[in-house]
Amino acid sequence: MRYLLSHRRYRLPFRAPLRTAHGGFEAREGFFLRLQDEQGRVGLGEAATLPWFGTESVEAVGEWLRTLGPEPGANDLAEIPASAGCLRNAVAAARSMIAGEDVPEAKPLPVAALLPAGRAALGRIAPLAEAGFRTFKWKVGVGDLADELALLDDVCAQLPDGARLRLDANGAWDRRQAERWLERTAERPVEFVEQPAFAEPTAGRARVRRTEDLLLGLAGDFPTPLALDESLVGDGDVERWLGAGWPGVYVIKPSLCADPGAVLGRLAAAKAPVVFSSALETALGARAALAWAFRWKGPVRALGFGVWPLFADARFDGPVLAPFMRREDVMRIDPEAVWNALT
Ligand code: MG
Repeated sequence: MRYLLSHRRYRLPFRAPLRTAHGGFEAREGFFLRLQDEQGRVGLGEAATLPWFGTESVEAVGEWLRTLGPEPGANDLAEIPASAGCLRNAVAAARSMIAGEDVPEAKPLPVAALLPAGRAALGRIAPLAEAGFRTFKWKVGVGDLADELALLDDVCAQLPDGARLRLDANGAWDRRQAERWLERTAERPVEFVEQPAFAEPTAGRARVRRTEDLLLGLAGDFPTPLALDESLVGDGDVERWLGAGWPGVYVIKPSLCADPGAVLGRLAAAKAPVVFSSALETALGARAALAWAFRWKGPVRALGFGVWPLFADARFDGPVLAPFMRREDVMRIDPEAVWNALT
């Protein structure tokens, strides 16, 4: 089987620059690709690389696309290595579209609302609760530890009945800081604490190992569940943490998995708790990523897809923030229109 392969590189400015642990983030870069099979059926995919998160670079995707050429065979596509996971993901999504796989029928899925860091969170909770949100995510580890801890009770006091709070530290804490937080969250409606600590792979093997031991230790010592996000980049990371007996939540960005079906199959077999999350991809990639969330048979936790509107050009946005994501919201995304917007 041979395919016609075309691709378009994109650089899309955000409506406003995002603040991340890695500094300001002003525009999203990646590739769209389009495959057409011998019967003329077309599939589209997005390689939404995030190199600072550990994926291949957008240049590496470009190199591979040049290597594949305009008429790759199925064998050529199978040779894309796992180290080019975002490109493999895009090819798999395009082929899945060609095969006519779609978003399965499922109930609407809840979506988590993102609160700004610090005191600014307080003013946002009531309107979001009024709109129907019941899961809130608050970035911590940004300001002074004592100030943030003091705010926790004010944030919890504003939550509507039955609501749950996610804390995301983005790896900011050391052991002592994490312990102070986890002592405090035990009696509060905290669903989980995401990535209390993290060591970049570039920090060296010993440091990474110590941080992983710290995470496992904290997960065993405190009742509040912990979640891994930055720790999960390649498909092999999920396998490794399953092997280590990680008792907490796995935050999965399907767009960054080389083979989302295999990763999610392993997590399902292990009955692991999963949260589906955006990789700040465009609507094209988000359609494929959200389809995985609708296919998930395990307990569904609120989606980490409350990110839109995100881009300066709204044609690249997915469904706007709402307390629930319905199957029809995902089906309404027209991959062809997103592809065509990039001319
Ligand atoms: Mg996170």
